[in-house]
Amino acid sequence: MTCYRVTCIPGDGIGPEIMAATKVAVAATGVDIEWVDLEAGAGVMDRFGTPLPQSVIASIRETKVALKGPITTPVGSGFRSVNVGLRKELDLYANLRPAASIPGVRSRYENVDLIVVRENTEDLYAGVEHRVGLDAAESIKIITRRGSERIARFAFEYARREGRRKVTAVHKANIMKLTDGLFLEVAGQVAAEYPDIEFEDRIVDNMSMQLVQKPELYDVLLCPNLYGDILSDLCAGLVGGLGVAPGANIGEETAVFEPVHGSAPKYAGLDKANPTALILSAVLLLKHLGEVAAAQALYEGVRAVIREGRRVTYDLGGTAGTREMGEAVAEQVARLV
Ligand code: NAD
Repeated sequence: MTCYRVTCIPGDGIGPEIMAATKVAVAATGVDIEWVDLEAGAGVMDRFGTPLPQSVIASIRETKVALKGPITTPVGSGFRSVNVGLRKELDLYANLRPAASIPGVRSRYENVDLIVVRENTEDLYAGVEHRVGLDAAESIKIITRRGSERIARFAFEYARREGRRKVTAVHKANIMKLTDGLFLEVAGQVAAEYPDIEFEDRIVDNMSMQLVQKPELYDVLLCPNLYGDILSDLCAGLVGGLGVAPGANIGEETAVFEPVHGSAPKYAGLDKANPTALILSAVLLLKHLGEVAAAQALYEGVRAVIREGRRVTYDLGGTAGTREMGEAVAEQVARLV
């Protein structure tokens, strides 16, 4: 049996607790993982002088994959966020954010099954901005053919691999004719290489309304950075919010899997936080490793525990702690593998 080495960054706040619960649940799949545990975040600033020690980057380059907990971004320290740092150093150009309804999680919809594929490196987030005198400022929106092509190809490859039926490109090309126009043009060219997958486009404002009114009509959303950032939170809201929203940042060589939520410092050390978002991130990681059956068992295990509703955390209406919920998922998974 293959033994996978996976870099593990528990992170700050509730990170270590949800990571411990997740490891217990993943172990129940039987996949042999050697976790390479490394620290990053506010907790290591004193020791390393940076929240993102080089040893963390080096480990991810070596193992190729990481599971990461949330990290507190120190305010006013002058250091860039660890998440931005990892994205830039490892060129993690694709941000993947699935949003699927989970029976037992309170939300307004029951049949949402969406994936937001967000370009992670360009657009207004390239950070090229400057003041113009005292009373104005400019930010430059950067869209390149290369950046657009690789994210479009990623979205179509993902759709094909996952048996998805449709990719919707999101843009504002009616106004930003050159930048969003290029993104849309390239998306259309890439789409032509995937005749088995339906392709359409939506203007971002209309897309927002449609997602609120008829989210079940959409499947894979292909977005430039800014719209993807906003719509992925909107989509998380459609299915019950932060506690259940997983994510992945993927590059050519490496991939980092992490929940969408932050370090929720007020719950740190209280055994209260919901481990679901990190467990679902581990589902994405197992799939990425090619362990599809184990990923499916972990996915169904966590959904079964939530559907039953007995051993879930406070935010899902239960009284279980983080650890107990992780154990409950592990027991379900053990029945499924
Ligand atoms: P947050 O996501 O940490 O918390 C917002 C609220 O959501 C919490 O008060 C809590 O009620 C709830 N919540 C979040 N995760 C939960 C969970 N797993 N279980 C139960 N409830 C949960 O957002 P914030 O308070 O804005 O940020 C706190 C810190 O986290 C900041 O330093 C921020 O920079 C950082 N952050 C890090 C990441 C990351 O590492 N990817 C992402 C977002 C925020």
